[in-house]
Amino acid sequence: MKLKIIIRTIIVIFSLLISILFLKSSNETHDAECKNCSVILFTVDVLRVENLGIYEYPRNTSPNIDSFFKQGFIFYNAFSTSSHTLPSHVSIFTGNYPSTHKIMPRANMTLPHDQKTIAEIFKVYGYQTQSFHGDDSLDTKGAGFERGFDNVYNQSDNKPKIFDFLKSVKGKFFLSIYTEKLHDPYLSNITYENMFDKDYNGSIIGDYDKFVQLKKENNITDDFTQERLLFWSKVNKSDTKDVKHLIALYDSNIYQIDLFFGELIKYLDDRGFLNDTIIILTSDHGEQFNEHGDFLHTKLYDEIIHVPLLIYVPKTKQTVIKNQVSLVDLSPTILSLVGIVPPQNIDGRSLKFLMGNPNVEDKNQVIYSEFAFQRAIRTPEWKFIKTVNGTVSYEFFDLRNDPKELINLYGKNVNEESLFKQALEGWEVKMNSSYVNVKFLNSTFIGYP
Ligand SMILES: [Zn+2]
Repeated sequence: MKLKIIIRTIIVIFSLLISILFLKSSNETHDAECKNCSVILFTVDVLRVENLGIYEYPRNTSPNIDSFFKQGFIFYNAFSTSSHTLPSHVSIFTGNYPSTHKIMPRANMTLPHDQKTIAEIFKVYGYQTQSFHGDDSLDTKGAGFERGFDNVYNQSDNKPKIFDFLKSVKGKFFLSIYTEKLHDPYLSNITYENMFDKDYNGSIIGDYDKFVQLKKENNITDDFTQERLLFWSKVNKSDTKDVKHLIALYDSNIYQIDLFFGELIKYLDDRGFLNDTIIILTSDHGEQFNEHGDFLHTKLYDEIIHVPLLIYVPKTKQTVIKNQVSLVDLSPTILSLVGIVPPQNIDGRSLKFLMGNPNVEDKNQVIYSEFAFQRAIRTPEWKFIKTVNGTVSYEFFDLRNDPKELINLYGKNVNEESLFKQALEGWEVKMNSSYVNVKFLNSTFIGYP
């Protein structure tokens, strides 16, 4: 028994060491590539992996996404580098963890110019680069989202501009399309408001027009924090009917995003773009609906960091990838798929080798996720979370027997947990990672952009 524990311990140490030593290594094959192809990166803010049909959600939230990516690469175990929009997005754009790029909310930091965004790299290689996002988080100065783009469109409805661009474009292009439509407050068009919860008769106002009226009655203008507080003031968080309705509203918004996605794909297909365009759908983080006694996206539990990652590469067949990967790997993966060598000095690595050999056992499946007051290290088997917010606390989960992270084993599996603690704290030192205290407003994260 003792020998068994020692052997198991040696195996865990060995895989953690391998992951740290060979963080940037890759074994690329050339099975999945599309040299000089155009690229569309479609990012849906706050999209949980489990609420999409293609990931076996029983509700029909995403028929167009499901049908299109049936011919794509489906990553089942992709994780975001953070629970928050800004740090996670900058990781997607740079291939660096938040501790490297240092972009955190309200930190007033500027992305260092030696960290190149994917748009800047595409620009160097002669791509036309366009960013379409709403009047939203990606407008944040200093985070570098505008870098490398020929044009940045930030109207609330960018659809006409997207189709205008596609109508006239000649040559290769990189489009970043980002939507915040899924973010709370979960307001929906009246046509779709009750599509997944017809019998609801509680106090939540999910209809956009009724909510505008409520804002008028409460003298609230377009202040995002005030709007969110007003929406949540009508929610009884301990009432399961209200929680169910929040999820139904969220799902109806996925359905509406999916309608636009379907329209975009049809347009691309009709004009022959699907022969030479790579299309990626992902999210910066998920959302919690009371799974761990809370809402929104404040922690590093899986319902928040487990995200969809779907990649269409022309002339390839459906490929399911179950290896655990991080979105820090997305930008080097996209670059290598079109034949551009990714920067060598970044935290992420290209996943092209996995796309060509989906059944290969990847030795480097350790990923990290971080936000102001939390850090997490995750392997396919275990997850260790450290929280520093006034006091220090730890959580340790056996994901094989407890995938929903409900039983904190910290203090019970001393051998394994000490290895994970050492690995996480070693990583913090290597990354020069520092914790930030966060003040919560109204017991939620509202007010912290
Ligand atoms: Zn976000």
